[in-house]
Amino acid sequence: MNTKKEWVLPNLKEAQKRTKQQVLIQRALFEVPEAARNCGLNKKFYLRTYGCQANERDGETMAGILVQLGFTQTEDEEEADVIILNTCAVRKNAEDKVLGELGQLKRLKVENPNLILGLCGCMAQEEEIVKLLLEKYRYVDLIFGTHNIHRLPSLLLQAMSGKERVVEVYSKEGDVVENLPTKRFGKIKAWVNIMYGCDKFCTYCIVPYTRGKERSRTIEDIVQEVEELKEQGFKEVTLLGQNVNAYGKDLYGERKFAELMRKVALTGIERVRFTTSHPWDFTEEMVDVIAEYDNIMPFIHLPVQSGNTEMLKIMGRRYTSEDYKKLFDYIVKKIPNCVFSTDIIVGFPNETEEQFEDTLKMVDYCKYDNAYTFIYSPREGTPAAKMEDNVPFEVKQRRLQILNEKVAGYAHERNEKYIGKILKVLVDGPSKKNDQVYSGYSEENKLVNFTADHVECGDIVEVEITEARSWTLNGKKIDRN
Ligand code: SF4
Repeated sequence: MNTKKEWVLPNLKEAQKRTKQQVLIQRALFEVPEAARNCGLNKKFYLRTYGCQANERDGETMAGILVQLGFTQTEDEEEADVIILNTCAVRKNAEDKVLGELGQLKRLKVENPNLILGLCGCMAQEEEIVKLLLEKYRYVDLIFGTHNIHRLPSLLLQAMSGKERVVEVYSKEGDVVENLPTKRFGKIKAWVNIMYGCDKFCTYCIVPYTRGKERSRTIEDIVQEVEELKEQGFKEVTLLGQNVNAYGKDLYGERKFAELMRKVALTGIERVRFTTSHPWDFTEEMVDVIAEYDNIMPFIHLPVQSGNTEMLKIMGRRYTSEDYKKLFDYIVKKIPNCVFSTDIIVGFPNETEEQFEDTLKMVDYCKYDNAYTFIYSPREGTPAAKMEDNVPFEVKQRRLQILNEKVAGYAHERNEKYIGKILKVLVDGPSKKNDQVYSGYSEENKLVNFTADHVECGDIVEVEITEARSWTLNGKKIDRN
């Protein structure tokens, strides 16, 4: 029987440490203990993923493992034998949502004591959260982290057969684990991890603690995965990492993202995207490669966070507002049709009105097509959480509103330029709001709703844009014959 002594608890101080130790590529680390084989036969699992694409991709790995154990997936938590919440720690309200969900799930656990309730993802990497779960959410059976997903068969078996809770969260990231099972949630678009972790330590961000140090997969493994996806009929891959532009530094001693993109583009897959970029690591060579290949999409998410250099310094972003504009200008020069989105934080500790004005000026300069805007939210354990959170909440709210109005204005203005133009759209299927209308994304990552006689999910069709809204475009399919 599992005892408390066997719990492996997260430790933020350990998670913060970075060593020079070379990360290994582990190809045979995943194993299913004899006793766990078929432990899911005639059983169902329910998986809910919160947060970013890295979490979505982790969810596909967990689903792949559970299917291999014999489970089938259900969308109805009421009929599940195993429920797993794959969580996000990036903002406080995301955490509150998960804790609220756990509260709701207690009823199911009371009705069915054999139900296994698990929590994993970034929240599981946080000391304070695990403490809270152990004290106040005693009905959570299984807690594991982002670094030991490959251990899921053993951990689940332990939880299913034991009477004590199972807690195994590694603070250190460990190696790159290849050959994990995967259940892809889409048939047309796929996420492809190219690296894990982040070494930037922006002062407000919890990710370097929850996801560990930067670890790149090999170019060969990534290209092979893309080739297999292409063979299976996938049309689009998104290369994933917290900071894709740093790809290769840990493994090859230098940035290799340009080379990787080139090789992925040469597989001939229809569309290549990537996320997330850090302006500091974005080299001109990378921009040149994006410009060179038609199948690398002209869309870049380029988080700016603030338009004020002093603020950027306090945030630990490692670039000035001038550096950012220089990079932006170079991209526009090389890729004139490039579409940009960004992330912006308002109300960071000590942010003055003038500094906020600089952020507005940056939005005026870049005229982003989209921006994910947030009120600063302190994350326990980060340097910013020790700063006095001294911008009054009403001021933060007002700044956010002003910013959002500006962003929406530019988004609409940018979209209007597409009226009368023809865009290539990868069809997702009938529109969510109207099944007489189809929807999909253009190369520029614009959501396009359009009328057509008949198209199939996965087709790439030409659509003439007839109407622009702030966040979507409307149009009709062009028939060339
Ligand atoms: S680059 Fe900064 S904001 Fe992005 S994940 Fe790393 S530490 Fe967080």
